[in-house]
Amino acid sequence: MGLPSAASGDARVEAAGQAAAAPLPRFLADVYEDLSRCNKCSLCQAVCPTYQVNPVEWETARGRVALIRDAIEGRLELREIADGPLSTCLTCDNCVAACPPRVPTAQIVSRARQELHEQEGYPRGQRWLLRTVLPRPGGTRTLHRLSRAAQVTGLHAAARRLRITRLMGTVGAMAERVGPLPRRRADQRIAGLPAVTPPVRGRLGFLLCCYQNLVAPEATEAAMRVLLANGFELEVPRLGCFGLPAQSLGDGRAVREMAGRTVSALTGLGVDGLVSDVASCAAHVRRYGGILGGDPELGDAARRVADATDLASVHLERVGWRAPLGPLPWHVTIDEPCSLPLEGPSRRVASALLSRIPELRITPLHEAAMCCGGPGSYATSQPGHSDAILARKFENVVATGAGVLVTENVSCLVQLRAGARWHAPGVRVMHLMEVLDAAIAAAPAG
Ligand code: SF4
Ligand code: SF4
Repeated sequence: MGLPSAASGDARVEAAGQAAAAPLPRFLADVYEDLSRCNKCSLCQAVCPTYQVNPVEWETARGRVALIRDAIEGRLELREIADGPLSTCLTCDNCVAACPPRVPTAQIVSRARQELHEQEGYPRGQRWLLRTVLPRPGGTRTLHRLSRAAQVTGLHAAARRLRITRLMGTVGAMAERVGPLPRRRADQRIAGLPAVTPPVRGRLGFLLCCYQNLVAPEATEAAMRVLLANGFELEVPRLGCFGLPAQSLGDGRAVREMAGRTVSALTGLGVDGLVSDVASCAAHVRRYGGILGGDPELGDAARRVADATDLASVHLERVGWRAPLGPLPWHVTIDEPCSLPLEGPSRRVASALLSRIPELRITPLHEAAMCCGGPGSYATSQPGHSDAILARKFENVVATGAGVLVTENVSCLVQLRAGARWHAPGVRVMHLMEVLDAAIAAAPAG
């Protein structure tokens, strides 16, 4: 690939350091100190999913950080590491969990992608999607109507047969991976939800993920039923995308715009808290204080929104589960979304909630915290890496012997369902809330 060697870059830095003071960063000054903490211990190597499928130095956090540092200090240009070190990183944070000085590699890579786009301009199609379609509440709903029309008229099937989807770049590849969209979105199913189970414990704002709304509405519907059964009234504000795709693709302006729109729409909502059933959305909204903290108009409101937001499962475990659960004689294993906080109780919540279900058997999944290869558009932009990482994930899933694989993030749901189709057709992939919803339905009446 002709990439500069990270190791040779480090050697040059050390040699230069003996003769002169360290150079001033040319850009990315906000992450320069963070990346300077890398002590080259290599503990990140064994836990990086991309290094496992392509064992070369630049696939590790250490290699990526060294190359970005070389670019910041002027020994190479970011363009030279765009295809490879910058593009194959999953921004999964798996390395951060293993890194003694906690070098935030995912954040550094995201900032480097953003800097590269600022230097070279944003791809037009991506800019249109992130700045025009996704921020609007109706944007993805229009996409749903167009996709459904293509499915119903047979256009989608014809495009697949003729391999036209393969020529449509990222959009076509995503359509291939997601498969046929459900007929009704989650926001269209709300009217059919049951009433809240009294006594009412509070009123929550439900943050509807624009992507899950389209591709896995049954999971969102299940999450709402579970919250209602536990005594929480729900308010579902009409929102656009919260901004995570823009964060992963490095469009800082779109990140701030989407965060600002969301905060403005949520201000004055009159609820006791905000919940999301998508781990990556909840994690992203919880970063709003950092994204908009300096904004004189929205800073305080952004911090309030961030502090009020929780993953639905974490909220239920914190306030206490109440709905009766019936027996489910299922054998399940749990995959952990990378977007859950690295440490702390959230990583154990899914297991704690499922342990309440009578007759349910849980087998721990080896490398459960390792990314499945499906964040954002990674599966379509890096199909080779994504498929290899997914195959490794399913070797571990099959080894458990479980018939149900549980997750609580939409990208994981889509990726793992594709993995089950290819590697383990007998394994059903379910959102955590779908399993809990099934157990509530199985509870004896009365
Ligand atoms: S674990 Fe952290 S400090 Fe060690 S080499 Fe990797 S990034 Fe650097
Ligand atoms: S963020 Fe994930 S893919 Fe990127 S270097 Fe760290 S472990 Fe590897």
